[in-house]
This record gives sequence, C-alpha cells and structure tokens, in this order.
Amino acid sequence: MVESGGANKQSLQRDSWGHRPGPQGFTTVIIDAGHGGHDSGAIGHGAMEKSLAMDTALRLKRKLSSQFKVVMLRSDDRFIDLDERVKLVNGYSSAVLVSLHYNSSRSSYIRGPETYYWRVDSHGLAARIQQNMEQVAGGRYSGQGKKRRRLRLTRNPKIPCVLVEFGYLSNAVDARLVKSASYRDRLASAVAGAIITQRNIGDAGTGVLPRPLYQPLSRPTDRPGS
Ligand SMILES: [Zn+2]
Repeated sequence: MVESGGANKQSLQRDSWGHRPGPQGFTTVIIDAGHGGHDSGAIGHGAMEKSLAMDTALRLKRKLSSQFKVVMLRSDDRFIDLDERVKLVNGYSSAVLVSLHYNSSRSSYIRGPETYYWRVDSHGLAARIQQNMEQVAGGRYSGQGKKRRRLRLTRNPKIPCVLVEFGYLSNAVDARLVKSASYRDRLASAVAGAIITQRNIGDAGTGVLPRPLYQPLSRPTDRPGS
C-alpha cells in the first residue's frame, strides 16, 4: 500500500513504473497537442480535434512559459506517431507531460471533461486537472471524470504524464462550448493552474495514491480500453 504523498515528497528522477508520489518542483512542462496532419482526430458539429488541440496547447504554453521551460511536441499541423511522441518525451527530465485531446463517443449524450492517468506519480496531477476542469465545465456530467487507463501516452513515458480530454465533439452542448475561444482559454487556465499547484505542493490534498499496477507497455495492437 502506498501512502498519500506529503508536500515534501518528490519524484523528479526518471522511472519506468512511476510507483511513487507525484512530483514537486519540476522545471519543464511538455505539451502534446493530440493528432495532427492526416490524423484529424475526432470530428463533430463542425469542429476538428487536431485544430482545437493545437489551439488549446498554444494557450496553455502562453500561460506557463513565464514559470517553466515549455516544450511543444508539435507546433504546427503535422503527424507524429504516438511511439515517436513517447521517444521525444523520454529525452527530458524534471518534467511532466500533458497530452491534450477532444473526445468523441457513439453516444451523443455523453459529455464533460475527462483526465486519464496510469502511473502512481501522475495521479495527483490528474486529480488537480480534472477538478479544475469540472469547475470550468460546471460539473461532472456523464463522462468518466478522472480515470486510470493504460494508453501509450499514460503508460509508456518515463516521466509523470496525463492525457486530457476537454469535451465531446459528439455532444452538441460540449461542441458548442469548446468552439468558443474564451471557453478553451478557461480550460487552458484550469490545466495551467493544476500544473502550477502540483509544482508548488506536490500531491498534498489529492487523496490516497492508487495501487501500483504492473502491466506491460501499451502497444498499438492492444485492444482499445485494455
Ligand atoms: Zn484524441
């Protein structure tokens, strides 16, 4: 059983499992704008995921660049394979990764922001981001909230990493919201605030850490959701 991390616990060194409290005092934020190039991601209600993700990534960068070294995995409309993104991420230390996405579902009523994490050391940051986003979105709604899921960008990097889904393009209400630049700016502020708080106080106040899970690296051939 891993106890909740206090304010003095730090985990800045690289580690393939990340079974320890979340980091404090990190100096670098890596921002991954999801999809790009021929991979447009989700499309719905006149919105395209890759463009919204890029826009939100740039907003987040502007909000963080006075306080951190900010690295953008892509700065324009280009395709980068997920395994290549992991390779780029693993070139950095004293860093956290946030991968930014907009969601889609076959069920048009599902809406709301979600945050995925896998590593124990990413739980606190995921909790902070999800809580801040729900304040912007006005509640939990029907999405999954904060969710532990083994994805290539939550399991495979050697640094704390979370994947953010800002809202569902397949839902009319969410789509209308996320097409608004001011709403996207508030979401970017929510994520920026969570990162700054995590940098300042680590996992303090984010509750009991999840159990360590020993699972292999995520592969493109994995069953979705496995
Ligand atoms: Zn996506």
